[in-house]
Amino acid sequence: MDLEASFTRCFDGLAAIDGGTTTPGTGWNRFAWTEEDLAARAWFRAEAALLDLSVSDDRNGNLWAWWGWPAPAAVVTGSHLDTVPAGGAFDGALGLVSALVAVAALRHRGVRPRRPLAVVAFADEEGARFNTPTFGSRLLTGSLDPATVLARRDGDGVTISEAVTQADVDPLELGADPEALARIGVFVELHVEQGRGLADLDAPVALATGIWPHGRWRLTLDGAANHAGTTGLADRRDPMLVAAAAVEAARAAARTNDAIATVGRLRVEPNSANAIPSRVDAWLDARAPDAERLDRLVATWRRAVEDAAAEHGVEVAVEGESRTAGADFDGGLRERMGATLQREGIGYAELPTGAGHDAGILSAHVPAGMLFVRNPTGVSHSPFERAEISDCVTGVRALAAVLEDLLCA
Ligand SMILES: [Zn+2]
Repeated sequence: MDLEASFTRCFDGLAAIDGGTTTPGTGWNRFAWTEEDLAARAWFRAEAALLDLSVSDDRNGNLWAWWGWPAPAAVVTGSHLDTVPAGGAFDGALGLVSALVAVAALRHRGVRPRRPLAVVAFADEEGARFNTPTFGSRLLTGSLDPATVLARRDGDGVTISEAVTQADVDPLELGADPEALARIGVFVELHVEQGRGLADLDAPVALATGIWPHGRWRLTLDGAANHAGTTGLADRRDPMLVAAAAVEAARAAARTNDAIATVGRLRVEPNSANAIPSRVDAWLDARAPDAERLDRLVATWRRAVEDAAAEHGVEVAVEGESRTAGADFDGGLRERMGATLQREGIGYAELPTGAGHDAGILSAHVPAGMLFVRNPTGVSHSPFERAEISDCVTGVRALAAVLEDLLCA
C-alpha cells in the first residue's frame, strides 16, 4: 500500500473544506457546528465508509468510526476537525487523516484485531466559536457541566443550544457519557507538533510526556479618560501604561520560571487615538511545567502589575477566567509505545507540550498517549503551519504500529 498517496488523497480532501480557500492567506476556518464543520463531519463519515467502518455519533456530537462492534475497552485514536480562526491545515486534521490511513494500512496488512478500534473526531476541540475548548471530550468525561455554557453566544448572537441543534445534537442530551467513556480502553492521539522541539532534536516524531498546566487571567485597569492634547503628564491616570507594564511583566515572570506567558488580547475604552483611555482590559495566558511554577509566575506578574497601577493611580482587578490542571500521560503506555517505535526502527524524542488536547482531558480517566509529528518551523494556529510529507508518512507508520500492538496484545 502506498502510504504517501493514501495520505495525500485523504489529507487534501479535508484541507479542501475550509471556508477560506478562495482568499489566500486567510487560512482554515472550521468552527464548531458551522457549515464548514458540518462539511468536515460529512467528509469523516464518507472516509470511514470507504474503510467499511460504521460511524455513530454520541450525545455530545463526537463522531465515532468503528472497526468491529462498539464495545467496552476498545483501542481509540483520533483528534478534531475544527480549527482556530485563520488556522492551519494540520492541527487536528493530521491526527484524523493519520488515524484513517493507519487503519487502512492495518486492514491492508491483514491484521486481525483482538479488540475493537474506533477513530473518534471530538467536537469543538479549539473552542474558537464559544470559548469552550475541548468541549466534546470534557462533556463526555463529565468535566464540563453543559448548564454552565449552553447560553453562551458566538459573535453573531447564536447560543450553543441553537448551534448544536443545527448539527442534529440535542442540547438537552449534552453531558457526561459513562458508556462512551467505558468504551475507551486506551486513547492515542497523533498531532502536529506546535513548537520547534522536534526540529531542534532532529527527530520525525515524539511521544508526549505531558501537558503543562495553564490558565487565563483577566486584568481590568480603570483610570481616567481625558484629552490627549491638553492633559499634563502629572495629571494623568493612564491605564495603558499599566497594561504595557503587564505585557513586560508577563515576559519577565515567564523567563524566571522557565515557563511561557502571553498578553495576546487588549480591550481599550474609548479606543480613540486622541484620548487617554479610561479603561483597559487585558488577558494573560500562562503555562508552566508544573502548578507551583504557574502559581509563582502569576503571583510575580500580579505584584508587578499592582506596583505599576499604584504608580499611575490606576485601579486594578485580576480575575482567573480558566485554569487547566495539565496532564501526565500514562508512563506504562508511553514505554510500550516507545518499544514499538524502536522495533519499527522509527527514531523518536520525548517532549512535553504547552498546548491543550483532548488526550489531556481523557488522560484523567483512561491510559492516554500522544504522538507528535515534526513541525519544521514550529508555527501553529496559523495558515503557515506545516509538516513534511515524509514526516507525515512516518507518523502514520508510527501510529499504525502502536495501534497494531494495542489491538493484538
Ligand atoms: Zn489540535
